[in-house]
Amino acid sequence: MIEDKNPQRTSIAQLGEFGLIDHLTKNFEINQASTLKGIGDDAAVLDFKDKKVVISTDIMVEGVHFDLAYMPLKHLGYKAVVTNVSDICAMNAKATQITVSIAVSNRFPLEALEELFQGITLAANEYKVDVIGGDTTSSQKGLIISITVLGEADADEIVYRNGAKATNLLVVTGDIGAAYMGLQVLEREKQVFQVNPNSQPDLELYTYLIERQLKPEARKDVRTLLHALEIKPTSMIDISDGLSSEIIHLCKQSKVGCNLYEDKLPLDPQFINVCEEFDIDSTTVAINGGEDYELLFTIPIEDFDKIKGNPNFSIIGHMTEESEGIHLVTRANTKIPLKARGWNALSESE
Ligand code: ADP
Ligand code: MG
Repeated sequence: MIEDKNPQRTSIAQLGEFGLIDHLTKNFEINQASTLKGIGDDAAVLDFKDKKVVISTDIMVEGVHFDLAYMPLKHLGYKAVVTNVSDICAMNAKATQITVSIAVSNRFPLEALEELFQGITLAANEYKVDVIGGDTTSSQKGLIISITVLGEADADEIVYRNGAKATNLLVVTGDIGAAYMGLQVLEREKQVFQVNPNSQPDLELYTYLIERQLKPEARKDVRTLLHALEIKPTSMIDISDGLSSEIIHLCKQSKVGCNLYEDKLPLDPQFINVCEEFDIDSTTVAINGGEDYELLFTIPIEDFDKIKGNPNFSIIGHMTEESEGIHLVTRANTKIPLKARGWNALSESE
């Protein structure tokens, strides 16, 4: 489905390990004051002065986390950075540096790795993170990419998963479910392509969904938005596995329950249309879909006036005592227990 626009194939064996590293990393710039030494020595050197340092790692394996049949390498590089930066945003911190480690089989020519690093560079510039190191090695089969991200925050700014209180409001940024439906569209087109390689997909009706799947963004703006509103969340998490599963994480770690309201879920019109086309229940996808990289957080009910009507945020529920459990309150006003990845949770009771 993705055409090979770059017919030139330079074998990476030709360059050797050091030549390859130099080639891939020569364009990275340093912008953060905390980066004293980036790529080029045995280790990078950082100085965060009086800030706290937050750090997170994610690994992505070909065939498990991505499929190169419809994921262009440039997008993969971009997304790998974004998913890491999103974890730092979810701590209410600012991402500052990343390291990038890759294992590649000789099936990948130099041009493929250049594309991957173009995506990494784009994201590094967009999120102003310095690439300060990494590792490059070979794999027997396929591509593995592991990114570690560092970020900074004042000690009193950091928000954990375990601070939610009963009566807190539950808030989500942006809209949810679109990335999952984007994946469904891409999977369908891949199957069509396998049957008829000459078919050219018409993806116009799905642009937003596909963009949410192939080029997600981390909500680095939320830290600033909340700061301006003088709101500090009591707990926060990013939506990588799906709303339902993230709510359960917040509840378990904070020892509270939750009522999530079906009619409050923020859904994009294109998402609703495509759910209809695929004959899938939009609520089921919205709460179980995943990969939205929006932020989910709780705030004291006293902050309601500061956030109500703000287009960046939707109040989708409230926390309760732990003993009340974790529920979705449907439009028909019935309560369904929320389950992580509970694809059957809705259909069972409908
Ligand atoms: P070492 O032998 O100490 O592991 P390497 O030769 O692997 O060093 O790497 C040389 C430099 O290039 C180091 O600064 C390392 O962090 C950096 N580097 C290696 N691979 C990558 C990569 N994929 N992305 C970014 N930096 C890398
Ligand atoms: Mg090394």
